[in-house]
Amino acid sequence: MGCCDTKGLMPIEQALSKMQEAVTNVCQPINLPLADALGYALASDVLSPLNVPPFNNSAMDGYGVKREDLEGADKQNPLSLTLVGQSFAGAPYQGNVATGECIRIMTGAVMPSCVDSVVMQERITLNDDQVIFTQVPKLGDNVRLVAEDLQLGQCVLKKGHKLSARDIPLLASLGLAEVSVFRALKVAVLSSGDELKNVGETLLEGEIYDSNRYSIIALLSRLNVEILDFGIIRDDRTLIREALLRADEQADVVITSGGVSVGDADFIKEVLTEIGTIGFWKLAIKPGKPFAFGKLGSSVFFGLPGNPVSAMVTLYQLAVPTMATLAGFKIKPALRLKAKCTTFVKKSPGRTDFQRAIHTVDDNGQLIVQTTGSQGSGVFSSMSQSNCFMVLEEQRGDVLEGETVMIEPYNALMD
Ligand code: AMP
Ligand code: MG
Repeated sequence: MGCCDTKGLMPIEQALSKMQEAVTNVCQPINLPLADALGYALASDVLSPLNVPPFNNSAMDGYGVKREDLEGADKQNPLSLTLVGQSFAGAPYQGNVATGECIRIMTGAVMPSCVDSVVMQERITLNDDQVIFTQVPKLGDNVRLVAEDLQLGQCVLKKGHKLSARDIPLLASLGLAEVSVFRALKVAVLSSGDELKNVGETLLEGEIYDSNRYSIIALLSRLNVEILDFGIIRDDRTLIREALLRADEQADVVITSGGVSVGDADFIKEVLTEIGTIGFWKLAIKPGKPFAFGKLGSSVFFGLPGNPVSAMVTLYQLAVPTMATLAGFKIKPALRLKAKCTTFVKKSPGRTDFQRAIHTVDDNGQLIVQTTGSQGSGVFSSMSQSNCFMVLEEQRGDVLEGETVMIEPYNALMD
C-alpha cells in the first residue's frame, strides 16, 4: 500500500479506488418489516408484484360517459344522458351503460369498460336523472389507465439502493410487507490519546475534549450503521492492543482517530502494524494528510488523522464511501456544482483542498461561495459554519475573487 506522485503524496482519487478495490459487501441479507427498512440497502432488485394502478380508474369526481354519446355538445347545444348508477372507490359499478346513459363516478373508483371518459362534476348540471353536458370530453379524459405508473414484473428499485422516505410508501403501494435488505454494518469507534477527556468531565492542564468520536458517531448514525462505542483508550500499549483486538472481534469496521502521523509517538501505529495489514498513507489532500487503511484480523480498519477537521473531512470523503460498499450500498458520485467565488482564496498547488465554505445565491440567481475564513485543521467552528466544501483541484493555485470553483454541498450525513 505505498504511494504515488512526485512528492510522495497519494491523490485522493487513488486512495478511493484502492479502498474500493480492497473491499466488498460484508453484510448478509435479512428480511425486515417495511416500516423498519428505512435507510437500509436493498439486498435484491424489487420487482413489482402488480400493475399500478391495478385497474382503470377515475382521476376526478364526475360522470363516466362514452365520448361518442356527447359528440356535438356545446353551450348552445347541450346534450343530456340518463344517470343509471354509480361507481365509488372500493364499490365498483356492476351494471351496463347503454347508449345515452352515464354513471356517477368518484376519484379512484373502477372505470367500467362500457364508459371511456370522465367529465368533471363542475362541468355538468343535474336535472333529476338527467345529466346535462355542454362540452365533449377528449377520449380518456380524467382516466388513469391500468399500469400507467408501474407494470407487473417491472424493476422498481435496484439491489444496493438506499431506501429513502420516498421509497417506503412506494413499496407499501405494491403491498410488500417485508423487504430483503443487507443487515447494518457494525462499526467500532475509538479515540486514543492521554490528552483526551470525555464530555462532562473537567479538563486538567494540557487536556482537550474528545470530539472526533462525536464526529464519527454523528455522521455514521445517518448511515444506518450499528455503532460500537469503545470510548477513549489511553496511550498505553497493552490497553490499545486489547481494545483493537476486541473491536476487531466484534465489528466489521474499526475506526480510530489520531496517532497515525509519520513519526508519531503514539502506540496505536505500532500495535496496528503487529495485528493487521495497514497502509499508512500521506494523502495529497488538505486538510487530512495522514490516513491509515487496511485490514485487522476480521475487520476493515480506518485510521483518521487526529485534528478534528481532518478527521471529519477524511471520514466523509474517504471512509464513508468505502463503508457504503462494505454495507452493500451502491454509491453515487457526490454532486459537485460550479459556483462563483466571492473572495480571494490562498492555495498552493500539489494537494486537493477541501475548504469549508458557505454557498448561497445572489440577487441574479447566480450560485456564489465564500470560505468560512480560517482553514486551520484545528478550527472546527469552520466545519460547523459551513454548508459545503469548496473543492480546489490538486494543481490549482490561488483563487482570485470572481473565479469559478467547484463546490460540493454536504449530503444528508452532515446535517
Ligand atoms: P495525533 O494525530 O494523535 O498526534 O493528534 C493530532 C491532533 O489532534 C492533536 O492536537 C490531538 O490532541 C488532536 N486529537 C487527537 N484525537 C482527538 C480527538 N479524539 N478529539 C479531538 N482532538 C483530537
Ligand atoms: Mg495522539
